[in-house]
Amino acid sequence: MRFQKEFMDSFQSFLDSGNYILGDQVNKFEQDYAIYCGVKYCIGVSNGLDAIKLILEAYKVLGKLKEGDEIIVPANTYIATILAVSNTGLVPILVEPNLETFNVNPIEILKVITQKTKAVLGVHLYGRLYDVVALEEISKDFNLLLIEDAAQAHGAIHKDGRKAGNLSNAAAFSFYPTKNLGALGDAGAITTNDDDLANVLLRLRNYGRISTYENDIKGYNCRLDEIQASFLKIKLKHLDLDNERRREIAKMYCTSINNEAIIFPTYNASKNHVFHQFVVRHKERDKLKTYLIANSVETLIHYPIPPHKQQAYRELGHLLLPITEKIYNEVLSLPISPMLTDEELYEIVYAINNF
Ligand SMILES: *Cc1c(COP(=O)(O)O)cnc(C)c1O
Repeated sequence: MRFQKEFMDSFQSFLDSGNYILGDQVNKFEQDYAIYCGVKYCIGVSNGLDAIKLILEAYKVLGKLKEGDEIIVPANTYIATILAVSNTGLVPILVEPNLETFNVNPIEILKVITQKTKAVLGVHLYGRLYDVVALEEISKDFNLLLIEDAAQAHGAIHKDGRKAGNLSNAAAFSFYPTKNLGALGDAGAITTNDDDLANVLLRLRNYGRISTYENDIKGYNCRLDEIQASFLKIKLKHLDLDNERRREIAKMYCTSINNEAIIFPTYNASKNHVFHQFVVRHKERDKLKTYLIANSVETLIHYPIPPHKQQAYRELGHLLLPITEKIYNEVLSLPISPMLTDEELYEIVYAINNF
């Protein structure tokens, strides 16, 4: 296993310390990750879903959001984004994506803003930054909070040099094992430059505590585990290299696959895409997937059922979201692990070119 020796050493000092909850490891990782993202605060939390929920809850505590407020979210996202909104008593307003980027279409956002709209929750889907300039402009013009779901975009860089996590009022990260920066279990974090928000978040994640036995708000137990923080601290040092390798694989796919029926994500030299997934579209996606399995290439579908077509969101089932549905019918994620070898890559490209 990669990092085996560092993980073992770290586990030994964790055992020796006897400190299992909110100790040095969490503190140190929070410092490292805040510096990495270029923000004032990083608050380690239990997972990515809790990270988004805590941001929304914190804004309720601060009086900037209240039950029933409308939050604009992409229709094309992992369901967790939308769960965070409905689980906190807010109303998700689903907006269609841009077919080329898979990310929320800013023009469509303008069409659904009402008096009740209080925030835009953007997602950097598959590792590609959403349209940062447009979303910042919209949130400024309409006085909306801008929140990032950065669960798939650790290390992605906007053209002005700012990183994912530093492109909004507050950003949520997941460190689920398969993410670009992944722990060995559940973990997450929130990044922000807002003093008041950070202050509330530090309490909210820990029962609303201000001291051992005093609680001034109704909080939660959403703490980042000490042991996961220690593993994350080790892996953070390799994040940029891993992202480079992902981008190298993406470039190789884009330049070597010559199957004209396959539509590629745009690859560009700017680092606004860290390829959490390498997602292509094909009219006969299921046939391509079956063919690739027969040729020993394992692919995944991110995601096969859009949130508004899930049983859990029956109340949204009537929405007409043709672009989102087209995407769910046509997308296929090719292997993009930074651990892929060049030989494996050549085999994948060869197989796809012969479809
Ligand atoms: C993974 C993910 C989440 C949820 O993170 P967990 O740590 O699994 O709770 C939220 N949003 C997006 C876009 C994700 O990819």
